[in-house]
Amino acid sequence: MIPSPTTPRQQAPAWQHALREAFTRPDELLRFLELDPDLPALGPARLRAFPLRVPRGFARRMRKGDAQDPLFRQVWPATAEGVSASGFTVDAVGDLRKLRSGGIIHKYHGRALLVATGACAIHCRYCFRRHFPYGEHLAAREHWQAALETIAADSSLHEIILSGGDPLSLSDDKLAELADALEAIPHVRRLRVHTRQPIVLPERIDERLLAWLGRGRLTKLMVLHVNHANEIDASVVTALQPLRALGIPLLNQSVLLRGVNDSVDALAQLSERLFECGILPYYLHLLDRVQGAAHFEVEESRARALMRGLAARLPGYLVPRLVREEPGATAKTSIAW
Ligand SMILES: *Cc1c(COP(=O)(O)O)cnc(C)c1O
Ligand code: SF4
Repeated sequence: MIPSPTTPRQQAPAWQHALREAFTRPDELLRFLELDPDLPALGPARLRAFPLRVPRGFARRMRKGDAQDPLFRQVWPATAEGVSASGFTVDAVGDLRKLRSGGIIHKYHGRALLVATGACAIHCRYCFRRHFPYGEHLAAREHWQAALETIAADSSLHEIILSGGDPLSLSDDKLAELADALEAIPHVRRLRVHTRQPIVLPERIDERLLAWLGRGRLTKLMVLHVNHANEIDASVVTALQPLRALGIPLLNQSVLLRGVNDSVDALAQLSERLFECGILPYYLHLLDRVQGAAHFEVEESRARALMRGLAARLPGYLVPRLVREEPGATAKTSIAW
């Protein structure tokens, strides 16, 4: 029998298989990377709350035998996570106080963020949502009904931002259902997707995703999350091409992370690499002061010096805006450098 070249509808898409194959055990990741099996790590009890998770394709972009690799550092549960640092809290950006019915966070004028899911393909150790009580606040529950009602009731909302977690962790059936329902709300004009999956799991960009992104009245845009040039390999470049072909603007936000991208060279290479594959730098975030992430923090004075160095080297359109998220502010706070 000749196998059919097309995936039958009922079969799970390839990206879900890749997701299941991700590294979740520290010892397996260390063996794969030919690193010291006794490299210190957060204990199993602490790790359980936010386990290790690294897709294999992402791990292949790390340098073997190098515990200082900038991609490895983003995912390795270092013992430093267990150290409590003053000023680092579980709700560093004040999101819980702003949460509305159906998993909607409405902090800024005209746009609201929809917490679609708590799941991610990768676990970034600096993540500000690592302590978020997703179980209680997911918008995807009950077919988005509560979220849609909240959005429909507020005609000032012109843009809906799918966030999480990573919204692309959800099935395309579920996402298409949401996109269709948002289209039916006349005041909604744009649908923005905040996602790291096209980078860490490029298999995610498949025909089913492109089908719902490519149709309908809403203007779609995507904000990706890349912190280091090495995250973008040929598989990512190829995966992004159909998004560009659909005319979906691609922007990037990064977090300034100690030991990952805190040099003018690393930031300049990142901007150049992003541009090569059709992504414009958008924000460079100062770390949100979330418990367990203090070892990633770069001081603001150093951040400003890095920005001056970057601006002295790159065209203006490749220089991201340095921002900090402040509870209660009406937008991301720009940091002048
Ligand atoms: C960051 C953020 C946004 C998006 O801000 P932009 O400046 O439009 O990119 C929207 N809502 C919330 C709650 C946010 O945290
Ligand atoms: S992909 Fe985004 S939301 Fe998920 S752990 Fe990483 S930074 Fe956090």
